[in-house]
Amino acid sequence: MPIRNRFAEMLPEIMEWRQHLHRNPEILYEVHQTAAFVAEKLREFGVDEVVEGIGRTGVVGVIRGKGEGTRAIGLRADMDALPIHEETGLDYASEVPGKMHACGHDGHTSMLLGAAKYLAETRNFDGSVVLIFQPAEEGGAGADAMLRDGLMERFGIDEVYGMHNAPGVPIGSIVTRPGPLQASADEFEIVVTGLGGHAAEPHKAIDTTLVAAQIVVTLHTVVSRSVDPLHSVVLTVGTFQTDSGASNIIPQTARMRGTVRCLDPADREMMEARVRRVVEDTASAFGAKAELAWEYGYPVTVNDAEATEWAVEAARAVANEVADDVDPIMPSEDFSYMLNARPGAYLFIGNGDSAMCHHPKYNFNDEAIPYGCSFFAEIVERRLPAR
Ligand SMILES: [Zn+2]
Ligand SMILES: [Zn+2]
Repeated sequence: MPIRNRFAEMLPEIMEWRQHLHRNPEILYEVHQTAAFVAEKLREFGVDEVVEGIGRTGVVGVIRGKGEGTRAIGLRADMDALPIHEETGLDYASEVPGKMHACGHDGHTSMLLGAAKYLAETRNFDGSVVLIFQPAEEGGAGADAMLRDGLMERFGIDEVYGMHNAPGVPIGSIVTRPGPLQASADEFEIVVTGLGGHAAEPHKAIDTTLVAAQIVVTLHTVVSRSVDPLHSVVLTVGTFQTDSGASNIIPQTARMRGTVRCLDPADREMMEARVRRVVEDTASAFGAKAELAWEYGYPVTVNDAEATEWAVEAARAVANEVADDVDPIMPSEDFSYMLNARPGAYLFIGNGDSAMCHHPKYNFNDEAIPYGCSFFAEIVERRLPAR
């Protein structure tokens, strides 16, 4: 087996950390106990510098290698859980009703802790490793919060790497690709105002429901008619509500919310402009008014071409199988903010045949741990070779 033997030895201990974190899920920025646990472990391992409170509840650890090198590699894990009620029936299932580690961030945190312990023991590299434990990956842009607190400059980070478990990918496999790996996630809200009235006298009203419905239908022409057919873009209108409370009332307002996902950063602004045009001009054609609020969310996750090559070489040294040409996926990821700040790569590590992420029966697979830890150790020793 190509994994490093030290991690096979450490596996029972790392599994204990993982199961402790699994029992005690915390969401968004409220990862206080998780962050305290991580900081305590890092100090116990003899990590040179441990800084808490970066990006509100993020934790950063710095391990200096043997040489005098000044380069630094950032390794990132996310710590937050989800507002889902666990249904796994595991003996270490969540002890917090309505919260659960359903995206495997307990596993990501434990793998990075395992790598930290090993790297602090061996220090077989020249430069620094910056261990980044972030809050609020699930919708809170915790990575961006850490960047705003000066993460990259303060710790002199030159490159960043991170990984996410992938249900359906075999244990021991690592897959990725250069360029766009995950989509951006932007949100919009549309408020349509017509003229409310009696359902039996539509000619004296402006039917807000009909205008809003027309907007939804026309919005679905934007992807098919305005986007390059070779690009991937998704537009979904997820909510549609009017203020009418009865079948005999034409409502005064209708409110819709939706999401737009893109794999090419340039498509995001084009989508906003086209959606705005459709919303305003369709409403105007009916004599109604419509307002669009657009919120730019997580950027496209773009892997640097060279860094991906380095990551793939490191993965090949420790994993059973590696693919460097996996298809991009449309869910978004806030490691994208870090990849916009520094060159680096994001990888998917096989979670075997498990329930999908965000499902109440999902569980991180502990068998992936030695592969993840080995990858982190390998990329550090390759990118910061000891002299
Ligand atoms: Zn998730
Ligand atoms: Zn996740």
